[in-house]
Amino acid sequence: MPAALVVDPQLHAKEIARFLGKVIRRPDSVEPGSGAMMCAIWTGAIGDDGYGRFSITRDGVEKTVKPHRYAAALALGQPVFTGQVIEHVVCDNPICVHAHPDPEVGHIWPSTQSDNLRCMQAKGRAQRWWVRGWSGLARAERAERSRQLAAAVRSGWDDAAVREVLLRIDPAQTSLF
Ligand SMILES: [Zn+2]
Repeated sequence: MPAALVVDPQLHAKEIARFLGKVIRRPDSVEPGSGAMMCAIWTGAIGDDGYGRFSITRDGVEKTVKPHRYAAALALGQPVFTGQVIEHVVCDNPICVHAHPDPEVGHIWPSTQSDNLRCMQAKGRAQRWWVRGWSGLARAERAERSRQLAAAVRSGWDDAAVREVLLRIDPAQTSLF
Protein backbone atom coordinates (compact mmCIF):
# COMPACT_ATOMS: atom_id res chain seq x y z
CA MET A 1 0.00 0.00 0.00
CA PRO A 2 1.40 3.42 -0.90
CA ALA A 3 2.18 5.84 1.91
CA ALA A 4 -0.65 8.22 2.70
CA LEU A 5 -0.96 11.60 4.34
CA VAL A 6 -3.70 11.35 6.94
CA VAL A 7 -4.87 14.40 8.89
CA ASP A 8 -7.02 13.50 11.87
CA PRO A 9 -8.98 16.36 13.49
CA GLN A 10 -8.49 14.93 17.00
CA LEU A 11 -5.09 13.29 16.78
CA HIS A 12 -3.48 16.20 14.92
CA ALA A 13 -5.41 19.08 16.48
CA LYS A 14 -2.30 21.06 17.47
CA GLU A 15 -0.70 20.56 14.08
CA ILE A 16 -3.92 21.64 12.33
CA ALA A 17 -4.02 24.81 14.46
CA ARG A 18 -0.39 25.54 13.47
CA PHE A 19 -1.33 24.98 9.81
CA LEU A 20 -4.39 27.22 9.95
CA GLY A 21 -2.31 29.90 11.67
CA LYS A 22 -0.36 30.27 8.43
CA VAL A 23 -3.42 30.62 6.20
CA ILE A 24 -4.97 33.99 5.34
CA ARG A 25 -8.48 34.27 3.89
CA ARG A 26 -10.44 37.24 2.68
CA PRO A 27 -12.63 38.10 5.71
CA ASP A 28 -15.89 37.32 3.91
CA SER A 29 -14.12 34.92 1.48
CA VAL A 30 -16.18 36.09 -1.49
CA GLU A 31 -15.12 38.72 -3.98
CA PRO A 32 -17.85 41.33 -4.40
CA GLY A 33 -19.71 40.86 -7.68
CA SER A 34 -18.30 37.43 -8.48
CA GLY A 35 -20.10 35.32 -5.92
CA ALA A 36 -17.09 33.01 -5.93
CA MET A 37 -14.98 32.05 -2.99
CA MET A 38 -11.51 33.48 -3.26
CA CYS A 39 -8.30 31.60 -2.60
CA ALA A 40 -7.04 30.99 0.92
CA ILE A 41 -3.37 31.94 0.89
CA TRP A 42 -0.57 29.94 2.50
CA THR A 43 1.87 32.34 4.16
CA GLY A 44 4.36 29.83 5.58
CA ALA A 45 7.49 28.51 3.86
CA ILE A 46 7.50 28.43 0.05
CA GLY A 47 9.79 26.23 -2.06
CA ASP A 48 11.58 26.96 -5.33
CA ASP A 49 8.70 25.36 -7.24
CA GLY A 50 6.32 28.04 -5.94
CA TYR A 51 4.45 25.58 -3.72
CA GLY A 52 4.33 25.87 0.04
CA ARG A 53 6.11 23.67 2.57
CA PHE A 54 4.69 22.50 5.91
CA SER A 55 6.50 20.30 8.42
CA ILE A 56 4.64 17.52 10.18
CA THR A 57 5.64 14.53 12.27
CA ARG A 58 4.29 11.04 11.61
CA ASP A 59 5.46 7.97 13.55
CA GLY A 60 8.23 10.06 15.08
CA VAL A 61 9.61 11.11 11.70
CA GLU A 62 9.54 14.71 10.49
CA LYS A 63 8.19 15.12 6.97
CA THR A 64 7.62 18.10 4.73
CA VAL A 65 4.35 18.25 2.82
CA LYS A 66 2.84 20.68 0.36
CA PRO A 67 0.15 22.69 2.14
CA HIS A 68 -2.48 22.21 -0.58
CA ARG A 69 -2.13 18.43 -0.15
CA TYR A 70 -2.42 18.82 3.61
CA ALA A 71 -5.49 21.05 3.15
CA ALA A 72 -7.11 18.44 0.89
CA ALA A 73 -6.51 15.63 3.39
CA LEU A 74 -7.94 17.81 6.16
CA ALA A 75 -10.97 19.29 4.40
CA LEU A 76 -11.98 16.27 2.34
CA GLY A 77 -11.42 13.91 5.27
CA GLN A 78 -9.62 11.36 3.12
CA PRO A 79 -6.00 10.20 2.92
CA VAL A 80 -3.80 11.73 0.22
CA PHE A 81 -1.56 9.04 -1.20
CA THR A 82 2.03 9.49 -2.30
CA GLY A 83 1.92 9.99 -6.05
CA GLN A 84 -1.74 10.98 -6.04
CA VAL A 85 -2.15 14.25 -7.90
CA ILE A 86 -3.96 17.01 -6.04
CA GLU A 87 -4.88 19.85 -8.38
CA HIS A 88 -5.82 23.49 -8.09
CA VAL A 89 -8.84 23.06 -10.32
CA VAL A 90 -10.37 26.47 -9.85
CA CYS A 91 -7.46 28.85 -9.46
CA ASP A 92 -4.04 27.43 -10.53
CA ASN A 93 -2.64 29.31 -7.52
CA PRO A 94 0.08 27.04 -6.08
CA ILE A 95 -0.18 28.52 -2.57
CA CYS A 96 -3.99 28.36 -2.43
CA VAL A 97 -5.14 25.96 0.31
CA HIS A 98 -8.87 26.45 -0.18
CA ALA A 99 -10.05 22.86 -0.01
CA HIS A 100 -13.71 22.21 0.76
CA PRO A 101 -15.94 19.16 0.27
CA ASP A 102 -18.58 21.23 -1.58
CA PRO A 103 -17.76 21.21 -5.35
CA GLU A 104 -19.16 24.74 -5.67
CA VAL A 105 -16.82 26.01 -3.00
CA GLY A 106 -13.50 24.14 -2.96
CA HIS A 107 -10.54 24.95 -5.22
CA ILE A 108 -8.45 21.82 -4.63
CA TRP A 109 -9.33 18.30 -5.78
CA PRO A 110 -7.74 14.92 -6.43
CA SER A 111 -7.14 14.63 -10.18
CA THR A 112 -9.66 11.78 -10.34
CA GLN A 113 -12.42 14.33 -9.72
CA SER A 114 -10.86 17.35 -11.35
CA ASP A 115 -11.99 16.93 -14.98
CA ASN A 116 -15.69 17.13 -14.20
CA LEU A 117 -15.19 20.00 -11.82
CA ARG A 118 -12.99 21.85 -14.29
CA CYS A 119 -15.80 21.76 -16.86
CA MET A 120 -18.27 22.95 -14.26
CA GLN A 121 -15.99 25.82 -13.30
CA ALA A 122 -14.84 26.76 -16.80
CA LYS A 123 -17.38 29.50 -17.37
CA GLY A 124 -16.76 31.16 -14.04
CA ARG A 125 -13.00 31.04 -14.41
CA ALA A 126 -12.88 33.50 -17.29
CA GLN A 127 -14.77 36.10 -15.26
CA ARG A 128 -12.53 35.91 -12.20
CA TRP A 129 -9.37 37.97 -12.51
CA TRP A 130 -7.73 36.17 -9.60
CA VAL A 131 -7.76 32.71 -11.16
CA ARG A 132 -5.60 33.69 -14.12
CA GLY A 133 -1.95 34.24 -14.72
CA TRP A 134 -0.14 31.26 -13.22
CA SER A 135 -0.02 28.68 -15.96
CA GLY A 136 2.23 30.69 -18.27
CA LEU A 137 4.86 31.34 -15.62
CA ALA A 138 8.27 29.67 -15.53
CA ARG A 139 9.22 27.91 -12.29
CA ALA A 140 11.32 30.80 -10.93
CA GLU A 141 8.62 33.38 -11.78
CA ARG A 142 5.98 31.21 -10.13
CA ALA A 143 8.07 30.91 -6.96
CA GLU A 144 8.64 34.66 -6.96
CA ARG A 145 4.95 35.37 -7.38
CA SER A 146 3.99 32.90 -4.65
CA ARG A 147 6.36 34.68 -2.27
CA GLN A 148 5.03 38.10 -3.25
CA LEU A 149 1.45 36.94 -2.80
CA ALA A 150 2.17 35.47 0.63
CA ALA A 151 3.95 38.69 1.64
CA ALA A 152 1.00 40.78 0.42
CA VAL A 153 -1.42 39.17 2.87
CA ARG A 154 0.86 38.12 5.73
CA SER A 155 -0.35 40.91 8.00
CA GLY A 156 -3.99 40.49 6.92
CA TRP A 157 -6.00 40.23 3.72
CA ASP A 158 -5.52 43.21 1.42
CA ASP A 159 -7.57 43.21 -1.81
CA ALA A 160 -5.45 45.90 -3.45
CA ALA A 161 -2.19 44.13 -2.64
CA VAL A 162 -3.50 40.77 -3.91
CA ARG A 163 -4.69 42.40 -7.11
CA GLU A 164 -1.35 44.14 -7.54
CA VAL A 165 0.61 40.89 -7.28
CA LEU A 166 -1.70 38.77 -9.45
CA LEU A 167 -2.16 41.28 -12.26
CA ARG A 168 1.40 42.64 -12.43
CA ILE A 169 2.70 40.02 -14.86
CA ASP A 170 0.05 38.06 -16.67
CA PRO A 171 1.22 36.12 -19.72
CA ALA A 172 -2.16 34.37 -19.81
CA GLN A 173 -3.84 37.69 -20.56
CA THR A 174 -2.05 38.07 -23.87
CA SER A 175 -2.24 34.43 -24.91
CA LEU A 176 -5.80 33.65 -23.88
CA PHE A 177 -7.74 36.87 -24.30
ZN1 LIG B 1 -7.66 29.03 -4.97
